[in-house]
Amino acid sequence: MLVIEGLEKTYDNGVRALNGISLNISKGLFGLLGPNGAGKSTLMRTIATLQTPDKGRIHFDGIDCLKQPNLLRQRLGYLPQNFGVIPRVSALELLDHLAMLKGLVQRRQRREVVDDLLAITNLYQHRKKAVSGFSGGMRQRFGIAQALLGNPDLLIVDEPTAGLDPDERNRFHNLLVGLSQEKVVILSTHLVQDVAELCSEMAVQAGGSILLKGHPKDLLEQL
Ligand code: ADP
Ligand code: ADP
Repeated sequence: MLVIEGLEKTYDNGVRALNGISLNISKGLFGLLGPNGAGKSTLMRTIATLQTPDKGRIHFDGIDCLKQPNLLRQRLGYLPQNFGVIPRVSALELLDHLAMLKGLVQRRQRREVVDDLLAITNLYQHRKKAVSGFSGGMRQRFGIAQALLGNPDLLIVDEPTAGLDPDERNRFHNLLVGLSQEKVVILSTHLVQDVAELCSEMAVQAGGSILLKGHPKDLLEQL
């Protein structure tokens, strides 16, 4: 269970991106819906301990995330909105390398973990191709494979389906639904449809505030 209380953040330029945000998020797929500029990425990065709020508290399963960011990071997978430079090495090599950095020193053990992730994300048949040649959907699924290294029980994905065609979006959706059986998964999106189709719980964020929270079925009738 992720408990967020009274988060506030004002950037140096005076933009108030988080205006007292409180949320309780439990296992399953949680949708954070809001237009561009709502403060969704700021909230996602704050939960991922990549930036600090001015005020407020975040707890995950007894971890005080702001005071013990390293403990949280061991439990966390995070797929940022625009993730880094895409390297010209194969998916297999890259995941293997990242697994090594995660401390999996035994080649055989690493191979098992990496093959598993490639299978889960439907990329096994593409494992020997360069990630730089992947389609948008494949890149996003590769991003999930990367985020799943270390078997996190909190997974944050920020606007993952932007620019994907319907078929790729569907695959990505199925992947998230599967993962949410066992993890807290938070999906940030500006697409009502994403939340309506997938999420068990949701909140609507705009102007740095949470306007509504509850079950998509109840809330989306009001929009
Ligand atoms: P969303 O993800 O919903 O589009 P963001 O969290 O990216 O929202 O941005 C919320 C507001 O904060 C926007 O007005 C944005 O321009 C502003 N903002 C985001 N990051 C910064 C930053 N590093 N410095 C200043 N303003 C920022
Ligand atoms: P989003 O689509 O989530 O709103 P943006 O494209 O606005 O994201 O932001 C991309 C990056 O630029 C983020 O790291 C964000 O913090 C930063 N950023 C956004 N708005 C501003 C701003 N007004 N001043 C400085 N940095 C910003």
